Amino acid sequence: MNVKPHGIHHVTAIASDPQANVNFYTKVLGLRLVKQTVNFDAPNVWHLYYGDEAGRPASILTFFPWPGVTPGREGAGLTTATAFSVPPESIGFWHERAKRLGVLFEAPVVRGDSEVLTLFDNDGMRLELIAAAGDQRSGWDGVGDIPQEMAVRGLHTITLSEHSLDPTASMLTEFLGMQLHGESGDSASFDMGLGGAGATVQVQAGVAERGLQAGGTVHHVAFRAPDLLTMESWRQELLGKGVLVTEIMDRQYFKSIYFREPGGVLFEIATDEPGFDIDEPLLELGRKLKLPPWLEPSREQIENSLPRIEV
Ligand code: ZN
Repeated sequence: MNVKPHGIHHVTAIASDPQANVNFYTKVLGLRLVKQTVNFDAPNVWHLYYGDEAGRPASILTFFPWPGVTPGREGAGLTTATAFSVPPESIGFWHERAKRLGVLFEAPVVRGDSEVLTLFDNDGMRLELIAAAGDQRSGWDGVGDIPQEMAVRGLHTITLSEHSLDPTASMLTEFLGMQLHGESGDSASFDMGLGGAGATVQVQAGVAERGLQAGGTVHHVAFRAPDLLTMESWRQELLGKGVLVTEIMDRQYFKSIYFREPGGVLFEIATDEPGFDIDEPLLELGRKLKLPPWLEPSREQIENSLPRIEV
């Protein structure tokens, strides 16, 4: 079976203050906090998941907040823009909202057929809101001052910054089954499946300076595999092509493998199953600290080591 992820699964980034992170993504951007857990590889660090009502794949942005972390720097070897899909005609609403709430932003521009508003979160992370026609996903309507017809619908595009285009483009097309959608100068876009919102990767090449992965930058981007069996066969296929892929990791809400693309960006493939309601009901997602069974015996120690957050 050819490796062929059918979209973006999630993006994981590094933040500084966890409370400021919760406030920005829930109250400003209107995402739902769908899981409070810890970094399974470093359980004294929060792992906060935001998404749509259910935290569906392609809606999820997650953070490792490290209070006092050094600010990072955009540049080659990192994904530098995380774009969300918002309804057509909603850019004016988001522009006004950014001004009113004191969020840093760049004036809206038209890119291709879509209006785009760039925002920066409290750690300077670059976010784009793309007014995308034809995105049938409905946003979460749990935030009082964001009408559902304006709400963020999920991830749209991730942008990789690279020294050179070709090595990364080869991995995306030949190893990961993506289709070249368009190319202009040093940049190219790639579709997974039908492409569009939630299934687009943009590569911006010709970036001279190397990025610094720290506060306000993306740690990795994950692509979607339908289920574990498929992912197991994809792992074998990538290994057969000489890609250094990790073992399959149990992330509780999905299973994952990791590898680096030639320009240095950390990629993950994550299964759509089982999802965030595996350990708490849909209506109660994100209200309390959830731990996987193997960390539950250390709950007291973990709770004492985490900075307090209020949601
Ligand atoms: Zn991940």
